[in-house]
Amino acid sequence: MSADGRLAFIYHERYGGRGTAHHRLSESWSRYRAIRDLLRELPLPIPHYRQAVASDTDLRRVHPQSYIDWVRQMDLRDDGFLDHRDTPAYRGIFHRAAAGVGGTLLGVRLIADGVVPMAFNPGGGLHHAYRDATRGFCVFNDLAVAVRWLMAERGIQRPVIIDVDGHHGDGTEAIFYDEAILTVSLHQYDGRFYPGTGALTETGRGAGAMCNLNVPLPRYTSGVPYLRALEAWVLPVVRRYDPDFVILQFGVDAHWQDRLVSLRLTAQDFGAIMARFVAVARETSAKGRLMITGGGGYTPQAVVRSWAVAMATALDRSDLALPFHDDPTTAKQGDPQREAQAHHVIDEGIALWQVA
Ligand SMILES: [Zn+2]
Repeated sequence: MSADGRLAFIYHERYGGRGTAHHRLSESWSRYRAIRDLLRELPLPIPHYRQAVASDTDLRRVHPQSYIDWVRQMDLRDDGFLDHRDTPAYRGIFHRAAAGVGGTLLGVRLIADGVVPMAFNPGGGLHHAYRDATRGFCVFNDLAVAVRWLMAERGIQRPVIIDVDGHHGDGTEAIFYDEAILTVSLHQYDGRFYPGTGALTETGRGAGAMCNLNVPLPRYTSGVPYLRALEAWVLPVVRRYDPDFVILQFGVDAHWQDRLVSLRLTAQDFGAIMARFVAVARETSAKGRLMITGGGGYTPQAVVRSWAVAMATALDRSDLALPFHDDPTTAKQGDPQREAQAHHVIDEGIALWQVA
């Protein structure tokens, strides 16, 4: 890596092949290679790394061996799905999924060992994966494996996972629901939109009470209420928790051009969002340690622009991001009625979490 490397970019050649989404979304598989190529062209201090595929020992930090073995068997069967018609079972899916986990593990290791303060694994962020079930293109939950690894191997005590993907981070929520580890998810929500979970009232249980924060947003919500939710609610809760490591699931399917999600963020909104998380990582016991993973994003040109803006911003070079901004005169605006609902939810959340 270069001596001035401040953000490690993690890429495995398997990211360039078949993805974990079904064939109707095959165009979206190109987003990993496309962001790699774009980041190489920008004058940013981003050293590139290639990870090892995660071992069973690391996968077992979250997933039972019986589930790991089942995924291997389904991979060999090379037919059908690992879940309800979202995630295909094909020859190579096991290694593709384990490479995603290996990437997030490499990122948190580089950060924890002081090689770089930040890392980005675009092939991670598989937040719908449960301990023992595949859901929504997610086989193994790399975010959860990374948390377990950091706590067991590097003495991290208060990690936080913040998930900005347009879908609820249901697998992550379920894995940590009873534990005093803060998990945050901002997402489109109406009780039916995939995966159907992620209500305001899902706040954690037992030792994990008030450690799971959901920001459920109505469809057609733009960046204005979104940033208010961050400033007035999410960030005060994160600062109060005082994380010693920040893990960010940075799926960008909340972009207004996305095929699956109906939120209305722009590429520059993702820059504004990233700036706030970089700042909160620096202000807390995390001391700037920030692991960024990818996640959803099904309109590749919007994904690549959004990620480019976010990475340039993380490196304090938002000037380089200007060519990737959306034209505000053509981007879809938020719907006033839905945004009034969004502000109402945010008011409720501020009261519930006592950060007023
Ligand atoms: Zn998503």
